[in-house]
Amino acid sequence: MKCLSCENLSFQIICNTCQKNLLEPSFHKRELKKDFFNYSFYTLSELEDLISSKYYFHGDRVFNILAKLSFAKFGQNFNFPNQVLAIPIDDHTRHDFSHTAILAKHLKSEFITPKYNILKASNIVKYAGKDLEFRKNNPRKFKVSNIKNQTLILCDDLITTGTTILEAKKALEKQNNKVLFSLTLADAKL
Ligand SMILES: [Zn+2]
Repeated sequence: MKCLSCENLSFQIICNTCQKNLLEPSFHKRELKKDFFNYSFYTLSELEDLISSKYYFHGDRVFNILAKLSFAKFGQNFNFPNQVLAIPIDDHTRHDFSHTAILAKHLKSEFITPKYNILKASNIVKYAGKDLEFRKNNPRKFKVSNIKNQTLILCDDLITTGTTILEAKKALEKQNNKVLFSLTLADAKL
């Protein structure tokens, strides 16, 4: 096949050279509310074309590569006194695979266990291109499966205003869970 990025022949959908030269993750921190942070690995401009692959059949291969380079490394370096669950935000499979589930899966490590189908949006509204006011007026209305008294990490592909992440955090805290932080592949504000 051809590398999506440089179009040279490659065994993988993104060739090793592009993975090394273009997809070296860096670590960005953004405070969403007091003492609650989102961490991301790329700027949106670095990833824009690749993230849009979630709408296509080859998206699972792209997300597996991105997650291996970022979330998996993070998981291996993460230490915590007790077990933590990784919760993908709205891991639906509207396009044959769930891109947020792929991200959470790669966090799996000594201290982190991914847990799927916990957090589902009941309001499937498109936020792309919408401002903060629209997002606040049209909450996702998350349904939370039975999960209580756990320590959690939220996973998503992209953070824009942070509305979705804060709404997800609130929904989980209602059931007495503690959300440590959220992790996203990219930050749209960088
Ligand atoms: Zn390439």
